[in-house]
Amino acid sequence: MEGTHAELTFGIGRILLTEAEIRQRIGDLGGQISQDYAGRNPLLVGVLKGVVFFMTDLLRAITIPVSVDFMAISRYDPQRQAKGSVRLTKDLDEAVESRHLIFVEDVVDTGLTLSYLLRVLRARNPASLEVCVLFNKPAHRLVDIPLKYKGFDLPDRFVVGYGLDYREAYRHLPFIGELKPAVLQLT
Ligand code: 5GP
Repeated sequence: MEGTHAELTFGIGRILLTEAEIRQRIGDLGGQISQDYAGRNPLLVGVLKGVVFFMTDLLRAITIPVSVDFMAISRYDPQRQAKGSVRLTKDLDEAVESRHLIFVEDVVDTGLTLSYLLRVLRARNPASLEVCVLFNKPAHRLVDIPLKYKGFDLPDRFVVGYGLDYREAYRHLPFIGELKPAVLQLT
């Protein structure tokens, strides 16, 4: 398992994507973005914390001038609030009006979070707004969102690693693995 300790990989079942596969695909995405956005100095926007791993590797794969900014959110109780609505706990530092935005996301499942955040950004009148997602889980999609740049389609499994956590654990694994159902049931 590519340089990780047994202790760290406790609870991981199948490895779905290796570190090398992820690295190669991000290289492709960075190359595409560099071609498409030449001369436009895009602003890459992400939501903390899961996307940090993808964002830093993607930035290094981009060969044109580019900027980056982050926001942070907390989820409302879905029993009491509209599904997918979130509270911004940290807003962007940059003004996005008239900028070419690329919303960078680690994983899209139902699409509710993403669709909410895209609405928030669109209301700020960017020059353009596209989405770059590394892991797409189409099985439970509730909102149809055009994903201009997409890394991988994943099956309907709870996965961890490469930024994705289970109760804040496993984020720093360099690969994507399936969490054993027993681990999910333990808690
Ligand atoms: P959505 O609003 O698209 O249903 O949910 C997106 C959020 O759900 C992601 O930002 C992530 O926090 C979480 N999520 C969805 N699927 C997974 C998964 O397989 N593993 C982990 N760790 N988080 C997931």
